[in-house]
Order: sequence, then C-alpha cells, then structure tokens
Amino acid sequence: MKKVTVVGSGIVGLTSAILLQEAGFQVKIIAREKFDKTVSSKVGAIWFPFEILPKEKTNAWARMAYERYESEHTENNGLSFIPFITAYNAESNTDWTSQLPQGRVREAFSNELPDGMEKAFISIVPLAEPLKYLPNLFQQFLDNGGSFYQQEIISLSETSKLDKYVINCTGLGAKKLCQDNALHPMRGQILRCASLPLISFANTLNKGALSYVIQRSEDCIVGGTDYENDWNEEIDPKDTALILERLKLAGVKDKPEILEEIVGFRPRRNEVRFEFDPFYPNVFHNYGHGGAGFTVAWGCAIELADIMNQKGLSK
Ligand SMILES: Cc1cc2nc3c(=O)[nH]c(=O)nc-3n(C[C@H](O)[C@H](O)[C@H](O)COP(=O)(O)OP(=O)(O)OC[C@H]3O[C@@H](n4cnc5c(N)ncnc54)[C@H](O)[C@@H]3O)c2cc1C
Repeated sequence: MKKVTVVGSGIVGLTSAILLQEAGFQVKIIAREKFDKTVSSKVGAIWFPFEILPKEKTNAWARMAYERYESEHTENNGLSFIPFITAYNAESNTDWTSQLPQGRVREAFSNELPDGMEKAFISIVPLAEPLKYLPNLFQQFLDNGGSFYQQEIISLSETSKLDKYVINCTGLGAKKLCQDNALHPMRGQILRCASLPLISFANTLNKGALSYVIQRSEDCIVGGTDYENDWNEEIDPKDTALILERLKLAGVKDKPEILEEIVGFRPRRNEVRFEFDPFYPNVFHNYGHGGAGFTVAWGCAIELADIMNQKGLSK
C-alpha cells in the first residue's frame, strides 16, 4: 500500500491525513503534541478567512472547505452552521463572500448591526468547536487505519527520513523546523465566556483593536488581539480589559461571565507554504494558515491529495 507520514496533529495535519487516507494512502501521524494540546484545540473556530494569504488560493480552499463541512455535518460531531455578522468598509477585500453557496450571505440591515459597525455582511458559516470536532477527526483517522506517534522532529533532514513522502503540517513549529523567517506568531488572547444573547460577529477593520464574539453550543468566545511577532504566552490583564472594553463599545452593556482566558499564536506567513521542499523533494509543506486554519484546512487537504495522486506519487 502507498504510505505517507504527516507531521502535526492540529486541524491541518488531521485533515491532510484523512484526505490522504481517502485517496488510498496508509497514513502515520507524528506530532510533538496530540490534537488536544495544539493551537487548533484552543480557538473559536469559525469559517472566516482572517489574516491568511494569498487570497486567490485561500478563497478557493475556503470554498472547498465549506463544501466539506456541509457534507460531513452531523448532530454530534462538533460542527454547526451559524449566522455571522462581519464588518467591512471600502478598503476591505470581500471576495470571500462569493465563495459562499447561494443564499448564504447578504448585506446586514442597520438594525442588525452591533454598535459602531457601519456596514456588514450577514452570512451562514460553519463553526467547528475544536474540543468536539478534533477528537472526532482523530477517531476518523484511527478508524481509517491510521497510527499516531508522539515525537518531536528537530530538523528537515530528519523529517525527510521519516517516510517515502512526508507532509509537514507543524504550524508555527515550522519556524524552527524549516528555519523559516517568513513565519511568525500573531498573538491572540481570547476569553471563553458564558453564552451571550447576540448573533456572532467580527469587526476586524482596525488593526490592534480586533473585536469578535463566536457563539458556541455551551459557551462563547470573545476576542481578541492580533499582535504581530508577539511571543508572550502569558495572559495579559490589560488585553482582557481592552477586549471587554471593545465588547462594551459593540453594545454589550453587561460584563460577560469569563470562564477561561486563553492565549494562542496564529501561524502567520506572507503566504501559506504549500509546496514540495526544494532541497528535500519528498517533503511537502502545508503550514502558515494564519487566522484561518479551520477555514481552509479541508481545501488544502483536498488539493494535497490531488497533487500526491497526479504527480504519480501514489505508487
Ligand atoms: C486566538 C485564535 C483564534 C483563532 N480563531 C480562528 C477561527 O475562528 N477560525 C479559523 O479558521 N482559524 C482560527 N485561528 C487560526 C487557527 O487556529 C490556526 O490557523 C490553526 O490552528 C493552525 O493549525 P495547524 O494544524 O497548522 O497548527 P497547530 O494546531 O499548531 O498544530 C501543529 C502541530 O504540529 C506539531 N509540531 C510542531 N512542531 C513540531 C515538531 N518540530 N515536531 C513534531 N511535531 C511538531 C504540534 O505538536 C501540533 O501537533 C485562530 C487562532 C488563534 C490563535
């Protein structure tokens, strides 16, 4: 049987592994952290192409991912489709709205807008609750005959020796693994709160003043921060205060009940690295998905499986 090893068990590694299995590969995952300790396990996670490039590719991946979410949506797998209000202005790139199926997006009416928002779309988008969805994906991977090994890989040379073909899905870990200076953390501090009586929204128009709420089945995520190259893993009380202040400005007068404060690093890159390595040609890189790993991962995985087959790599 054709074999491949995936390094990384976040959303990008798990979706890549499953699509390769569907394409007929026997897949092994090696990762420093199991899925429940990854960045992917800590976040929203809603379908919205935030801080990810290049747009031509990421829009297509986002569309493919939307379709995959639709096809695998069941009662209890952590997936749902929810209304989401997203602010835009004259400078915004709104191409992503044309990736949605017909009837899933329209201009928001003024009485639907959170305070301070002048123009927005309201769309129906996938929400993947990581603590329910990732275990489900991991189980799918095992049920398809996959095996998992916990191990840190320290160099690209070591990566290339893991198998005949290796897919590098190490997220921000690729910075050290590949000595990649184009990759850096975008620090996100978020608050996991008791549910709020409002429709999920995001206002990403002002850099440094990100404001969003994602309603989930049992809680909601209130964000956030978007600080470039900030490696601070600690909760910063000043950021919590700023997040709450911006929530108030959006019209939520009562302070939400905070259940948990979380910090995570978005693997931000000038563009997603999606290519074979020039020096280790059996290694394919799939990392740097910024603030949109959940939004595009299935799309990348679909294209990856095609590449592995089309290039005659399936033998
Ligand atoms: C606060 C916040 C909110 C976000 N909200 C959203 C959202 O609403 N929607 C959305 O689409 N995206 C969102 N994102 C972005 C999304 O979380 C990321 O793009 C995504 O999690 C990246 O997934 P990944 O699998 O590439 O990386 P990770 O989840 O970081 O997984 C990397 C894997 O590689 C392994 N690894 C790393 N280095 C090595 C090594 N040297 N050897 C072996 N294994 C290694 C790790 O152990 C891990 O298993 C958010 C991010 C943050 C921080």
